[in-house]
Amino acid sequence: MHIGIRRSAVATALAFSVALLAAGAAGAGVPTSGTGSHVGVEYFPDPAGEGARTSVPADSPHTQSAADARRRTAAPSEDGEVVPLAETGPTADRLDVTIIGDGYTAAEQDDFIEDARIKWDEVTDIDPYKSYAGLFNVWAVKAVSQDSGVTGDPSRDAVRDTALGSYFWCGDTERLICVDLGRTKTYADKAPATDLVIVISNSTKYGGAGYSGLAADYGYDGVSTLSSDNDRSTLIAAHEMAHSVGLLADEYQYAGYGDYPYPEPAYPNASTLTVNEMAAKRAKWASWLGEPDPSGGVVGAFEGADYYEYGVHRPTENSIMRALNTDQFNLPGREAMIAGFYRSANALTPLVDTSATASRFTRLAVGLADLGPGLSRPQLRWYVDGREAKQARGKTLVLPAVLGVPADKRTHKVTATVVDATSAVRSSAVRDLTSNFATWTVTR
Ligand SMILES: [Zn+2]
Repeated sequence: MHIGIRRSAVATALAFSVALLAAGAAGAGVPTSGTGSHVGVEYFPDPAGEGARTSVPADSPHTQSAADARRRTAAPSEDGEVVPLAETGPTADRLDVTIIGDGYTAAEQDDFIEDARIKWDEVTDIDPYKSYAGLFNVWAVKAVSQDSGVTGDPSRDAVRDTALGSYFWCGDTERLICVDLGRTKTYADKAPATDLVIVISNSTKYGGAGYSGLAADYGYDGVSTLSSDNDRSTLIAAHEMAHSVGLLADEYQYAGYGDYPYPEPAYPNASTLTVNEMAAKRAKWASWLGEPDPSGGVVGAFEGADYYEYGVHRPTENSIMRALNTDQFNLPGREAMIAGFYRSANALTPLVDTSATASRFTRLAVGLADLGPGLSRPQLRWYVDGREAKQARGKTLVLPAVLGVPADKRTHKVTATVVDATSAVRSSAVRDLTSNFATWTVTR
């Protein structure tokens, strides 16, 4: 399923940030002009610190040409081969994550597959990814590089010829790994479907980045880069995917940014409202105020978020959306992520065509996403003309006659619903999003 782009205020904030940088107010050596197009990117210079944003070229100076790749790669090439790492359901009902390796030679493709498995295991060890891993398909796409390793590792002058041209020292920042977005798309398009991309650069050195808001140009919202053999880099992907999936704001601020210049943002985890205003209006994360939070402390309204210092608040003192010294999403963040999972995925897939009329003795079957114990609490129920057939709760295969569809000449509706009863959701709007259903028309 397709997931939406980030709100334009981010682009505005980013443009402001780039303008500041261009004016020499902060940073150094950031490319602000040139012939190629530039895109916004987020990175985490310190493996346990807060993020930062800048603008970087969409292409890479270190990408091997496709012709070179063909010429150099021994036939038969595995280049572009897709290996399903997790295939949990039809792409229409799942979030599809495509993982591509860079800096892996033809002889190292098995290493890439192993690294991709390990990275996905690490991401899905973090809630709410952990509890909802069954809503994801994961596709590994092999990209054969001429050289092993990536540019900028171990030293700045180390140049390598790789399929995606990923490189440390992007924008003069050692830990910022940029990638050629066009070449990345070439490989991502080989997967059956792609909602999010993760590029794994073959390196032990800490680094990574997150591109988001790419949907209009690339067809998927986000690309996360990270180094293969550094476990801190996994948190970068967990953070970046949250922008694309949960539509979450960054919860950090920049010194000198001052007052928030925007009206109330659409982000579920940033608000101009104070605790008292939020509680009075029952707005944003009001239902979580005062709750002990997994990131530590209690949920409140802490000043400083969405890059600004004053007049805008985040739900908790710290969280993975503020700094990578924690792997915990806060409670409002988790709820927003769960909403995002269900915007792009369905826990229930009808296995019998819902557009064809069924009879009382047509076997109606549904597939359920395998959502294990944890935050997720999906409950399957069946209804005949809106009345629940309680004896069928949890059954994935039913007969309308047994559900109670009468043998009259009339037309009846049989509906299967799955509602996620997780306590991690308090908003009725989000609860509605977690409700997936299928309806059949039954006669005779
Ligand atoms: Zn971020």
